[in-house]
Amino acid sequence: MSNTDVLVVGGGPAGCATAIRCAQLGLQVVLIESQLFPRTHPGETLHPGVEPLLKQLGVLEPVLAAGFLRHKGNWVQWEGSREFVPFGSDEEGAWLGFQAWRADFDAILLNQARALGVEIIQPSRATGLLMDGRRVIGVETSHSTFRAAKIIDAAGDHHWLARQLGLQINYHSERLIAYYGYVTGFAKARDDAPVIVADSCGWTWTAKVQSQLYQWTRLSFVNQKIPKDWLPDEFQGLQIYQPMRAANVSWRIVSQPAGCGYLIVGDAAMVVDPTSSHGVLKAIMSGIWVAHSIASELSSHVTEQQAIDRYCLWIHNWFQHDVKNLISLIAKLPTV
Ligand SMILES: Cc1cc2nc3c(=O)[nH]c(=O)nc-3n(C[C@H](O)[C@H](O)[C@H](O)COP(=O)(O)OP(=O)(O)OC[C@H]3O[C@@H](n4cnc5c(N)ncnc54)[C@H](O)[C@@H]3O)c2cc1C
Repeated sequence: MSNTDVLVVGGGPAGCATAIRCAQLGLQVVLIESQLFPRTHPGETLHPGVEPLLKQLGVLEPVLAAGFLRHKGNWVQWEGSREFVPFGSDEEGAWLGFQAWRADFDAILLNQARALGVEIIQPSRATGLLMDGRRVIGVETSHSTFRAAKIIDAAGDHHWLARQLGLQINYHSERLIAYYGYVTGFAKARDDAPVIVADSCGWTWTAKVQSQLYQWTRLSFVNQKIPKDWLPDEFQGLQIYQPMRAANVSWRIVSQPAGCGYLIVGDAAMVVDPTSSHGVLKAIMSGIWVAHSIASELSSHVTEQQAIDRYCLWIHNWFQHDVKNLISLIAKLPTV
């Protein structure tokens, strides 16, 4: 059995942000990731607001050097005609989003965690929790058993720790399935920026994610099934690069995203459908928040209960804000 300050389950953006920031704050961290990297994952489009966070994590330079495509905003066709919605600008010019290929982006974050002394156990799967009464004190993995002052669930949208603890997961939408896929070829109309196009049933998102590589996502709010070989109109005739997949993006939140000995970050804490493309931003922000919270608690600046209450309030407020915005967007879907 090994001991550490912080044990992070999951090496996506939420887990890596937690691990990096904890290590920067002088904490000893172990991170367990079940898959070998590079691994594929949807979620390439990043809002420019991610830049200061990447800078804080010390990965802005390698992310810029990776040569991800950049764009000034998105095309939106929701209520009426199609219009370009820029992210904004300042005296240095237009703010630019990223089309960050997640296999490369996530590997950059994990490498930074490793460089800062985080012990990375990969591939290794968290399989169970160690408890002392109601307190989570450790994790059993396919590799070994770890005890830690804090256990972080960053294992994504299947809510690993919540299910282990039997925490309630509250749903705020009907069952929503996002279908997505990748195609190769040329779709000139998508070269400058992604587009989201609404119809009476839902929306379709298309984006260029690399040279000659495009991504699409289709979300229906009326449980509309789509055929296996479905493609958005603008990608007709292009080669399938990755066949269609599906993800459950029903709006949901873990009732208690922090408790005795644990904190839950990123998709593991809350999921909304990817209409706004903010999943990675939220994953990183929640990771940074919990790292600061743990450091404050371990240096006795706040009590564990204060840290739990603040984090739970922050996550719940954020989720409610997102849900409110999504409801008002759905109300504006065009009618047939
Ligand atoms: C179709 C679709 C399109 C999207 N588009 C966007 C977009 O354009 N922009 C955006 O910002 N977001 C987008 N998202 C959302 C985005 O993908 C997620 O919000 C983001 O990946 C969440 O990061 P995370 O670190 O919380 O979880 P993940 O990225 O899912 O990482 C979790 C990690 O935990 C590991 N793991 C799982 N179980 C275990 C275990 N038991 N033990 C150890 N490790 C484990 C997994 O291997 C994985 O590496 C999209 C989502 C979907 C479904």
